[in-house]
Amino acid sequence: MAYHVKVIPPSGRARIHKDSCKFCREGQGMENQDKGTGPTYWEPAHPNKGMVTIKEAENFMANLGLRYKDKGKCPYCMKS
Ligand SMILES: [Zn+2]
Repeated sequence: MAYHVKVIPPSGRARIHKDSCKFCREGQGMENQDKGTGPTYWEPAHPNKGMVTIKEAENFMANLGLRYKDKGKCPYCMKS
């Protein structure tokens, strides 16, 4: 299990995903979407391995800055 954070700068949004999530796919994003163009990015990006602990992902998100007001976990893969 590893974690990736999707960062969407224009929306000030960031979401933690599990690497196995269909929206994440180890930092590749959804199939046939997320072509790596535009401002959106994954941290870490494929083919880099995801962060080992959720704490690490949360720390990364916390350090994104005040502009990011919409931060959280993916409701699909991290609900509980
Ligand atoms: Zn997810």
